Amino acid sequence: MTDCLFCKIASRAIPAALVHEDDQLVAFRDINPQAPTHVLIIPRRHISTLDELEADDDVTVGAMVRLAAAIAREEGFAAAGYRTVFNCNADGGQTVFHIHLHLLGGRPLTWPPG
Ligand code: AMP
Ligand code: ZN
Repeated sequence: MTDCLFCKIASRAIPAALVHEDDQLVAFRDINPQAPTHVLIIPRRHISTLDELEADDDVTVGAMVRLAAAIAREEGFAAAGYRTVFNCNADGGQTVFHIHLHLLGGRPLTWPPG
């Protein structure tokens, strides 16, 4: 989608601190980190919200979660623990309408979130 910030990051039209990229997914550091490590994992293909997911997307979403776990291991806090979050629509706090998995780690995280 031409007018989507995260599509532009995926295509490198807008720079970001990339952590990982492959033919399906891109991961980059959040510009406003909420933890010592705050990475966003996105599919290259534009999907606006979790509400739009279809059965064909299961492999992509599974790969997103496994990539979060791999980055947590690389960043050194997998055993200590971390959080993964998908925000969906307004009440969920979604501000960028291209699905993204937040990976937060490197400090103890409180529960429940705000
Ligand atoms: P959400 O509120 O779940 O939609 O999350 C969107 C996230 O994107 C927020 O944590 C923002 O800080 C982050 N963000 C917005 N613009 C950029 C950008 N240009 N590069 C990296 N992260 C961004
Ligand atoms: Zn997009």
